[in-house]
Amino acid sequence: MKIKLLPSTFDAEGRATAEQRLSCFLLDDRVTIDAGSIAIALTDAQRATVRDIIVTHPHMDHIATLPIFVDDLFGTLTEPVRIHATADVCELIARDVFNGTVYPPFQKYSNEHTRVMEFVPFRPGEEFRVAHLTVTAVHVNHIVPTVGMLLTDGRTTLAFSSDTSATDEFWHLVNRAPRVDALLIEASFPNSLSKLAEVSGHLTPAALGAELRKLEHKELDILAVHLKPSFREQLVRELADLGLPRLAAMEAGREYAW
Ligand SMILES: [Zn+2]
Ligand SMILES: [Zn+2]
Repeated sequence: MKIKLLPSTFDAEGRATAEQRLSCFLLDDRVTIDAGSIAIALTDAQRATVRDIIVTHPHMDHIATLPIFVDDLFGTLTEPVRIHATADVCELIARDVFNGTVYPPFQKYSNEHTRVMEFVPFRPGEEFRVAHLTVTAVHVNHIVPTVGMLLTDGRTTLAFSSDTSATDEFWHLVNRAPRVDALLIEASFPNSLSKLAEVSGHLTPAALGAELRKLEHKELDILAVHLKPSFREQLVRELADLGLPRLAAMEAGREYAW
């Protein structure tokens, strides 16, 4: 399985930088988890193959350019863009984004071939299919309804926490899997801002270290994501202080494969 954190910042020459401002993870050029930078960082070839988007929660950094992505494709789609999310998240996005004011209600529109966008609700705790992947999502502990998930293509299995503070159900899900190749988990704020991390439903590197003690799998790569750009260097140092050789900060724009 290939996964790339799509870039969301570009330097003066237009080259992608490593910091993460938006959340959008591209899997095998077919599926994305969240859609923060989906409209601005896909190649034309990827724009033609991505039709399934799993939305973990409705925060802006996770859906910012989703409406623009559907808008770009409006005339050429021969199948809908499918938004996979829990029923409450589907409702929140329809109410607050695709509402005819912020953007058109694409879920009600068709072009000459197909409906252009479809909400495909899933139930937490129950397995569902997204393109070539089998996914199970469970609630994590953020300030709005949010899911973390386990995804597999039958050979490789990936765990993704999304935005969360300390949580348990996610670890039960991950520990139940016979094997996990990689874990993507958030580390938003430095240790000195642990209070802010707690009230905003996020982890610090120290809190991430405590969470990892709930993880029973030992042989897996761990990528820290959602590092607030203004604290990135400090966060990278604090992650290194945990002394876990297979833990690294994920770089936007770089392709990882397992
Ligand atoms: Zn969030
Ligand atoms: Zn976020």
